[in-house]
Amino acid sequence: PSPVPLPVLGADITVPVTGNRTVPYANLDIAATAPCAVSAADAVNRLLPSYASVHRGAGVLSARCTQAYEQARETVCRFLGCRPGDEVVFTRNTTDALNLLAGAVPADTVVVTFVAEHHANLLPWRTVVRLPLPSSPDEAVAAIDQALHRHGPALVAITAASNVTGEVWPVADIARVARRHGARVAVDAAQLAAHQPVSLADLDVDYIAVSGHKLYAPFGAGVLAGRADWLDAAQPYLRGGGASTQVNSVGTASWAVGPARHEAGTPNLLGAVALAAVCAALTPLHWKALLVQEQHLLGELRAGLAAVPGVRELRLFAPEHPRVGIVSFTIDGLDSAQVARRLADEHGIGVRAGLFCAHPLTRHLLDAHTAAPSTAIRASLGAGTSGEHVHRLVTAVRAIATP
Ligand code: PMP
Repeated sequence: PSPVPLPVLGADITVPVTGNRTVPYANLDIAATAPCAVSAADAVNRLLPSYASVHRGAGVLSARCTQAYEQARETVCRFLGCRPGDEVVFTRNTTDALNLLAGAVPADTVVVTFVAEHHANLLPWRTVVRLPLPSSPDEAVAAIDQALHRHGPALVAITAASNVTGEVWPVADIARVARRHGARVAVDAAQLAAHQPVSLADLDVDYIAVSGHKLYAPFGAGVLAGRADWLDAAQPYLRGGGASTQVNSVGTASWAVGPARHEAGTPNLLGAVALAAVCAALTPLHWKALLVQEQHLLGELRAGLAAVPGVRELRLFAPEHPRVGIVSFTIDGLDSAQVARRLADEHGIGVRAGLFCAHPLTRHLLDAHTAAPSTAIRASLGAGTSGEHVHRLVTAVRAIATP
């Protein structure tokens, strides 16, 4: 068994920095898009010479590809802890998965969420109640309880881990409350799924959405997994071949039930196979190694930043609340975009500056401090992050904050 969490490509990339130097690239923007796992690249490379149309051709290669695509679905199904009867629909990413679900929610069902959500889980819903930011996990659970008292069997749409603060949300507790009210729960696991196992069965939730490109697979494949009934009753997400079973001479169609209903058009075989390869590679041993390494580096990063005068970490809950490898921060009096630019140009470090597609949450956390700039800097860790990357970031931030 390998103690290496998850081997990824790109560890040997170097970049030019000021002073005519070249340094190893420190990719600390893994929450936006993770580097490609070696297992995903290998799976794609194996398939490249012999791929052919999925679900359509009669040729041998086409049959093999159809099998590979459906096997990928099975692997993802196990990875996300699907129960009998749950469906796995391949989408482009989490945004696509949540928009698909939004279109499948029955018209009389209210969606309850928090304004803390990423825009992908804030904007797609039609009849939606957006709850104000809670200041603790208990308050979040109580707010859901109260909202469900008012709105009955709603759909609760909630993030599993914030892409701004990295804080892990009390999804299982919220699911328990939702069950009492006969409500359903959809989980935006775009972030959490890259840091720890996320399971429909274990969390007792109804839907999970993930993105392959945050899970160490290349771009273009995501997943909506969960209960089949709403999905099978909904209008097809896209209309076209594959989703339609019969089309008559005037163009009226009948539609497939099952994942095909929402997967019209030629499917993204390579994306699905790459994502499944990562799911298969993440054994319990690898998860453990990933978690131990990441939490260690996260501790060093947070402690290092906390020791720099003027640096403030963004957080909603208590400092010790569990979080994945994400830290957003500001430096008093300094423009975040300029700091991020200097980290790249002078130190070869890739971070992100902005509001992170979660404007209400990030603005609220920034507004809490009068000296804070209007955007934040986010550093995010994962497989491929080393102690040297973290140390370099802390040293660089100290140099920029205290010239
Ligand atoms: N939800 C969360 C929590 C995210 O971090 C992201 C990506 N930043 C998304 C949803 C959307 O993912 P994608 O861009 O892959 O659709």
